[in-house]
Amino acid sequence: MPSLSFDARTHLLVLTGAGASAESGIPTYRGVTVEEGLNETDRERLSTLHGLLDEPARFWRVFSGRRAKLLEAQPNAGHRALAALEEQLGDRFLLVTQNIDGLHQLAGSKRVIELHGNLLRTRCTRCRRPAFADIRQYERPPVCEICQAEGRANDPHDQPWLRPDVVLFGENLAPKDLERIEAFLERGARERLVYLAVGTSGLVYPAAELVQQAHRAGAETFLVNLEPAVNSDAFDHFIQGKAGEVLPELLATSA
Ligand code: NAD
Repeated sequence: MPSLSFDARTHLLVLTGAGASAESGIPTYRGVTVEEGLNETDRERLSTLHGLLDEPARFWRVFSGRRAKLLEAQPNAGHRALAALEEQLGDRFLLVTQNIDGLHQLAGSKRVIELHGNLLRTRCTRCRRPAFADIRQYERPPVCEICQAEGRANDPHDQPWLRPDVVLFGENLAPKDLERIEAFLERGARERLVYLAVGTSGLVYPAAELVQQAHRAGAETFLVNLEPAVNSDAFDHFIQGKAGEVLPELLATSA
């Protein structure tokens, strides 16, 4: 295994994807299809806002099932190794996750950017009420009570549905998150920068481009993944294996 060493100047930017939670029992993007009996077309359609607007009952059935799964999940050794390292690095550590499961925070990580949101929060598709913590599983698609009270739910064909507070396909990421990553890379570039991607296929943008951004900032780059990712070649080091097995060793030997 290549060695990853840290000194007092090292800044570590981490990107995690669905593979980081696979050992916690949460299926990866591809695994979801198999588990939920969805074909590729359904899976993609139900990952968009149109999926919700066209088939709200089906959309919420699928997302409620995913919520139920999250509520049973616990962080694994990979999540814990990252949280332990953050304790040592403090502000020289930043964790960017594509996962919507909240498991990094449950393991104790604090400096976390949830690039794609969090499935255990809900917001309205219509009004600007802030997202709220929500673990409910809905048998019927939920309508926003505020919009209802204010008369915006009168048209049965155009309901103000509630939606999970996650970034669906075709939606933009929060600019403030991208700025925070940029600022971290700039700070790290002035000292020493390491970039580590874990459990991510390299197919979802713009997260998949972070490795190039990190390289431009002078980072040494590592990928830990069960299988080669589509962008494995963009990394200086590729460590093939399970996050829960590789990370405790890779991060403990070095900190
Ligand atoms: P992906 O599902 O496209 O790819 C996961 C990658 O992880 C694969 O390359 C696989 O080889 C690897 N992997 C599987 N098990 C692993 C393990 N134990 N250790 C290390 N690697 C492992 O995931 P992605 O690149 O994150 O993109 C999927 C999209 O779907 C993201 O946008 C994400 O928001 C969403 N998603 C999130 C969750 C979650 O929150 N846990 C789960 C499924 C999908």
